[in-house]
Amino acid sequence: MTNAQVTRELSNGTAIPVVGLGVWQISDGAECERAVTAALEVGYRLIDTAQAYRNETSVGRAIRSSGVPREEIFLTTKFYPGGKDARVEAEKSLERLGTEYLDLYLIHWPQGGPTWAWPGMEAAVEGNLTKGIGISNFGADEVRELAKVAQIQPVVNQIQFSPFEYRRGLVETCEDAGIVAQAYSPLGTGRHLDHPAIAKLAESTGRTPAQVLIRWAMQKGLSVIPKSVHQARIEENFNVFDFELDDDAMASLDALDTTGSTSDALSKSGKWWS
Ligand code: NDP
Repeated sequence: MTNAQVTRELSNGTAIPVVGLGVWQISDGAECERAVTAALEVGYRLIDTAQAYRNETSVGRAIRSSGVPREEIFLTTKFYPGGKDARVEAEKSLERLGTEYLDLYLIHWPQGGPTWAWPGMEAAVEGNLTKGIGISNFGADEVRELAKVAQIQPVVNQIQFSPFEYRRGLVETCEDAGIVAQAYSPLGTGRHLDHPAIAKLAESTGRTPAQVLIRWAMQKGLSVIPKSVHQARIEENFNVFDFELDDDAMASLDALDTTGSTSDALSKSGKWWS
């Protein structure tokens, strides 16, 4: 089995790779195309973009020129909830991406409440624009509220997750609802890489800080989407399938949590919508 085939099954029957490339803050154009091309060459088969990232065109171009068959790639984009109709916006994403379908379409954050955009998300599935739909930055209460009204259930909740933001209560709520949690900012957008506890574990395992952080989230059962624009780091972040963190290492990382095992998606001050 190649690393790209290590997946988690979603409730709609599709399989999401356990490690993917995130492309937030990668400029549209050559930089984004280079990063996605490098990732596909290394063996990544999951690419995570969003309408708000404004780089879907480059993601699509890199996918098409990679030679990797579209059906072997798991492509995610996200509905920008400042928009009105998720289905209409999905069509525009597909045009920019130059592809026929998405594998996963997420509501980027629950602006305006957790349910209003869902009928448009479901219409995107019914129109074969996407195989699966899901959510991002939804806390446990929002997950439950949505589950009550959804005709098609969300398959993924993409959340901020790292040893320092170990949202244990939220991950458990997702699992109970049949939703796979996916870890964004697994390296703390780079901030966690220099932490002494991470450096220590990297040294004792003979791995890099990034690999330790990615491996921890994988062993918690999440799909993980680190971002890098550097080929060597893109490769490093994917070389996480040939080692395991033992129980002591996992426990020492668990202990770094600053959220109190929260079931919230973000700290109150971290909400960027009103
Ligand atoms: P990450 O936690 O993945 O960290 C990325 C940062 O770490 C960059 O500065 C990168 O620098 C650096 N880095 C990456 N790999 C290494 C390495 N091996 N060694 C040293 N430095 C490294 O950041 P993000 O916050 O971007 O999260 C990842 C993805 O999650 C996003 O790209 C996006 O797809 C998704 N996301 C989703 C959100 C949501 O609301 N749904 C919110 C935030 C992120 P460089 O690129 O220069 O290598």
